[in-house]
Amino acid sequence: MALYSARKGFNVGLTVGGVNLNRGFHVMAGPCSIESPDQMDAAAAHLAGKGVRILRGGAFKPRTSPYSFQGLAEDGLRLLAAAAEKNGMITVSEVMDTETIPVVAEYVDILQVGARNMQNFSLLKKLAKLKKPILLKRGMSATVEEFLLAAEYVLQGNDRVILCERGVRSFEPLTRNMLDLAGVALLRNMSHLPVIVDLSHSTGRTDIIEPLAQACVAMGAEGIMVEVHPNPQVAMCDADQALSLDEASRLLDGIAPWVELRARLDAAPAKEKPGPRAASSG
Ligand code: PEP
Ligand code: MN
Repeated sequence: MALYSARKGFNVGLTVGGVNLNRGFHVMAGPCSIESPDQMDAAAAHLAGKGVRILRGGAFKPRTSPYSFQGLAEDGLRLLAAAAEKNGMITVSEVMDTETIPVVAEYVDILQVGARNMQNFSLLKKLAKLKKPILLKRGMSATVEEFLLAAEYVLQGNDRVILCERGVRSFEPLTRNMLDLAGVALLRNMSHLPVIVDLSHSTGRTDIIEPLAQACVAMGAEGIMVEVHPNPQVAMCDADQALSLDEASRLLDGIAPWVELRARLDAAPAKEKPGPRAASSG
């Protein structure tokens, strides 16, 4: 597979708003959808108080049903930006189409391309011209190779791409999607790009987030994304997978010792590492 980024051999530090995505372990957290000033302020204040630097929230929502809440659009982006600013955070939010790139880019630090748009090539080509980082989510039926090649579209002109594994469709009804941790390991071998793991959309539930987050730290992922809502029972989107503020605190406290251990291991003198082995056939 011909990777432009690999050919160029660049390994840039991806820094946005003072947050270096290539160093440490980053948590992107916040509601699925931006709903109200109170909701955003409560989530942002709580998460910032626990050390989270990257606030998420959807304003343009790719809903399966046209009758479901579609998001607050620009009003929502305004609330996201205000809540982040008040709490010293940076933001990530989805851009769904080429027409809304300017408005999303006006308010948001990291533009997310959702799973349903991973191969929307006209969108990716436009984002290659943008001077902002792009968080590209893996399509729900995309192979690792297709994912990396989609990233290449953005990399043609914009080297600030973050890969986001969010699970793929499977036969398992107990999880919303199937989290592909082998894919995460492959992405980290095959690409220099930071890899974030969306544990909310991959699992669709809240009770197995912590062990998976620990696994992400252990395997060297650059971070996780989780949905957090001050009152999950009334969330207008993805209520079942939203962590409450207390649950988010428990998760963050729970992974802290793992993150510390990871930092210590990373700081230890590097041992000579063999390059990735070529996969055997069969
Ligand atoms: C989201 O992050 O809100 C979202 C819709 O995710 P995905 O594109 O992974 O389904
Ligand atoms: Mn969601």
